[in-house]
Amino acid sequence: MNRRLYDKLIFEHSHPGRHGYSLPRNPFDRHIDELPPSCRRIEAPALPEVDEPTVVRHYTNSSTNNFGVDTGFYPLGSCTMKYNPKINDALAASRSIATLHPMQPAATAQGALAVYWQLQRALSEIGGMAEFTLNPFAGAHGELTGLLVIKAYHLSRQDAGRDTVLVPDSAHGTNPASAAVAGFKVVEVRSLADGTVDVDDLRARLDGSVAAMMMTNPNTVGMFEKNIPEIARLVHEAGGLMYYDGANLNPMLGVARPGDMGFDVMHINLHKTFSTPHGGGGPGAGPVGVRSGLERFLPDPRVVKTPGGAYDVVCDDSSLGRISGWLGNFTVYIRALAYILSLGAENLAKAGPLATLNANYVMNRLKDVYELPIPGPCKHEFVFDGLKDKSTGVTTLNVAKRLLDFGFHAPTIYFPLLFHESLMIEPTETESRQTLDSFVDVMRRIAAEAAQNPELVKNAPHDTPVSHPDDTEAALHPITSWQDLCAAQTS
Ligand SMILES: *Cc1c(COP(=O)(O)O)cnc(C)c1O
Repeated sequence: MNRRLYDKLIFEHSHPGRHGYSLPRNPFDRHIDELPPSCRRIEAPALPEVDEPTVVRHYTNSSTNNFGVDTGFYPLGSCTMKYNPKINDALAASRSIATLHPMQPAATAQGALAVYWQLQRALSEIGGMAEFTLNPFAGAHGELTGLLVIKAYHLSRQDAGRDTVLVPDSAHGTNPASAAVAGFKVVEVRSLADGTVDVDDLRARLDGSVAAMMMTNPNTVGMFEKNIPEIARLVHEAGGLMYYDGANLNPMLGVARPGDMGFDVMHINLHKTFSTPHGGGGPGAGPVGVRSGLERFLPDPRVVKTPGGAYDVVCDDSSLGRISGWLGNFTVYIRALAYILSLGAENLAKAGPLATLNANYVMNRLKDVYELPIPGPCKHEFVFDGLKDKSTGVTTLNVAKRLLDFGFHAPTIYFPLLFHESLMIEPTETESRQTLDSFVDVMRRIAAEAAQNPELVKNAPHDTPVSHPDDTEAALHPITSWQDLCAAQTS
């Protein structure tokens, strides 16, 4: 098959006068008027002139240039891009759900509200929290919501001077960003060489201005924060609350609960841990859970179960108000509940240990050729600091691009910022031993190529439709349509 022919941009196939349809002239022209001349175009639209088979082949082939977890292994760290069972998508797409309307009376949507309520309960159980709201649309949105809950809590106690949020230097960028958007000052807490929070540095930063400490556990370098009980005690003594960034909940599922560790408020990224495909920025959901005593600050509207057993949507005066339209991204909840119920408590508790086992397996099989700055064991993910042998000049970017030639998605690169050549790998629990072995073989082969033929790696990828886009130029002058491209080519 000559795929490359159809990889060209659609307007490159254009030939003047060629078209994909032929309509007869109006055979009824004595009875039905044609479009009046005043409504007709004077000039033809600037569209490519192509026949129908060319259009079909162009789009069909273009669609297969996309890489996703459905086409290959996707070892992206920090974001849990695991395989999501198709049954969950099928349920979310069902007609009875697609035809729901957010304004229909609660009495006519009892099934949907039952899903909502059951998911709130399931997440509360999984997180060890008293209550959850499902309303926020993403992890970052959950962080903002959770911090607003914390703000409302301090204000309710006339404790208005708490204007600071502590964030470890290993934190995901959304943590300081959310704190700033919620109106807090951000103070960074240092990490130790083993990647965990430096408790002495934290102690030095605790005072009456601290509203909360945000933490991710396992943290973004895949390390379990062993000192959480001590950290929670110190923060609580200083009058602050503990916020848990639940983006890395996957390895903890059914094994440990943030609520039991001393966290007061948390969010869960349903699109990461609970089965919603989320490439390209959506859709997502970032439900927020709170410990007992903070429920009344959660946003409106809420789904409750009445004493009679019916479900209702209510608002509450003590709430911080609305943070989203209606009740959030409903089809994400369908997938999450389907995922939780189809695994069941017993199998849900296997996901975390398997994800951890897979990450440690890959780490141990590669650590003699890639630099492991924080020795394991890790949890669900780990970070290499580039190749062990740096003398060849082959960088993490080169390794990531070379992986594409072998049909693997690149891992996360240059994050976290703690190391110069970060290469962050999260295999997740859904990958087989065979998939992990072939990934390891390719990573080892790339390390060998870097030593024997570094130019081969530096010029990779060699086999993808697009090989070396200029990142800076693309950011400065994005070309988002073929008209942009024509303009760029003629200027
Ligand atoms: C993904 C992620 C977030 C942000 O979540 P979004 O749903 O992308 O907004 C926050 N913290 C960590 C550690 C993450 O991995």
